[in-house]
Amino acid sequence: MKILVLNCGSSSLKYQLFNMDDESVMAKGLVEKIGLSDSILTHQPANQDKVKIETSIPEHGVAIELVVKALLDEKHGVIKDMKEIDAVGHRTIHGGTSFTESCIITDDVIAEMERLVDLAPLHNPPSILGIRACQDKMPGIPMVGVFDTAFHQTMDAAHYLYGLPYEYYEKYQMRRFGFHGTSHRFVSIRCRELLGNPEHSKIITCHLGNGSSIAAIVDGKVIDTSMGYTPLEGLVMGTRCGDLDPAILPFLMRKEGLDADALDAVINKKSGLLGISGVSSDMRDIEAAAADGNERAQVAMEIFRKTVIHYIGAYAAEMNGVDAILFTAGIGENDIANRAAICENLSYLGVEFDKEANDCRGKEVMISTPNSKVKVFVIPTNEELMIARDTAALVK
Ligand code: ADP
Repeated sequence: MKILVLNCGSSSLKYQLFNMDDESVMAKGLVEKIGLSDSILTHQPANQDKVKIETSIPEHGVAIELVVKALLDEKHGVIKDMKEIDAVGHRTIHGGTSFTESCIITDDVIAEMERLVDLAPLHNPPSILGIRACQDKMPGIPMVGVFDTAFHQTMDAAHYLYGLPYEYYEKYQMRRFGFHGTSHRFVSIRCRELLGNPEHSKIITCHLGNGSSIAAIVDGKVIDTSMGYTPLEGLVMGTRCGDLDPAILPFLMRKEGLDADALDAVINKKSGLLGISGVSSDMRDIEAAAADGNERAQVAMEIFRKTVIHYIGAYAAEMNGVDAILFTAGIGENDIANRAAICENLSYLGVEFDKEANDCRGKEVMISTPNSKVKVFVIPTNEELMIARDTAALVK
């Protein structure tokens, strides 16, 4: 079975074609600058060089057409006929409370996603565009939606409600949804395998990338997660502020004369590691500047570590214990120094950190000692493969 996985942004589209017989990637690629005159398609067939195609790609339908053309191309294609693609799996961001798991995309599903646009005005419209473009350009091929919020829908009201008047929950669904769910699900499934698939398990998954979130997972079900109504809450991220005293927001609006949109840009795009350090949103730049003696970069890094340590402690307490903690995504998989600094603060939980095992990047490894009461793992995430697996399972 061959599954095409699509992740549509407003001006970009990422794709991977999986052969589900062995879960190998046959080809992958990226369309950038959709809507501009100098759009680029970068296509990479497995074990071959990248091919770059520069052309005008005015909208998502044209992008899908070009992707299919690249997959079918005589020279750098990997299939002979579009019919070889058994299904398309879409990364659909916000499923609200309507989608608690992945599902086959029908007209009703699209209508519900449209209804949810209010909750994810930046992310859901491009997903819908991508779905419609596929309906148009790949007619008859079944499609599956895999929602970033779905895995977190097992939280109970005590974990998803905010301390706000209840009427806002009723009126606007003002509640914690959580994000990165596909990643938390993928790595937590793998973590349970590594623990020997015990009947009961308490796991803390740390997805630390440009956007970061942590989840507390009991017996495979999320009980709490750090991102909230939007992906802004929780950890200090590349450019997002994370947790704040909410009184700061009206104060800034008054003092700086910011309207809602301007404030939104400050807390989403100008805060976090970038805002604190003034250097960059990228952890590698922060670490380089910190090593050069830049004090704001040093404090940005310390705040990042502190917030991770804070959430791990909070979730271990909420679960009344923890069996395993895992790190994933760009920082979680690659940042040896940050992992070490975080794990060295977890001995009180029963973590015996293995410094030598931690000296690696981008691969699955246990970074606690074999005798450690709480196991700590690095598990590379693979959201695309999770989407492909869900898609294959649903269309079978
Ligand atoms: P996104 O949320 O955009 O998918 P990623 O998961 O790719 O982000 O993570 C990007 C982050 O990972 C950046 O802050 C980057 O600096 C960090 N990162 C990647 N490689 C390393 C490394 N070797 N050491 C430290 N940080 C790294």
